[in-house]
Amino acid sequence: MLTERQLQFRAKVSAFKDFNEAFELVKSAVFTKFKMHRAGLSLVLQVMPTRLGAYHILGSNVIAVNSYVLAAIKNMTVPEEYNAYLFMVLAHEYLHSLGIVDENTVRQMTFDLCQTLLGDDHSATKMAKEDPSSLYPQLKDMVNTQFGREFRVVRNFDKANQSYIQ
Ligand SMILES: [Zn+2]
Repeated sequence: MLTERQLQFRAKVSAFKDFNEAFELVKSAVFTKFKMHRAGLSLVLQVMPTRLGAYHILGSNVIAVNSYVLAAIKNMTVPEEYNAYLFMVLAHEYLHSLGIVDENTVRQMTFDLCQTLLGDDHSATKMAKEDPSSLYPQLKDMVNTQFGREFRVVRNFDKANQSYIQ
């Protein structure tokens, strides 16, 4: 059984239309669940080796997401599932950006976040528990081993709550 809050949150994950809306939702989710918050992050899209979904450089304000994997998932599924993946990946990197370094801790927190707000059988929860390739085995066949030299900075990312004091 899903709670009213989980139903509402699922609807929000299905409905976001761009990276900024996705990230606003991630931030409100993390605040709801863990009472943690920060502002002023930048999002960069870059082609990366397939084994990497995204990364955050410790101490920086940059979250970099693998645009190769994003495009692949966009092509192989429906928008709601793509959104579930993007939500999970951004939540994971956002938690790192809050100063949580340990990979297993972040994975567990991302899973707890998705499970609490979206329920056990939501795609984001399943991908947080295992791996995106557990839902999309095709990803294992699409091997890219290179980092792209070009990257795209997402404009107006994380501007909604920015203040002058950070
Ligand atoms: Zn990580």
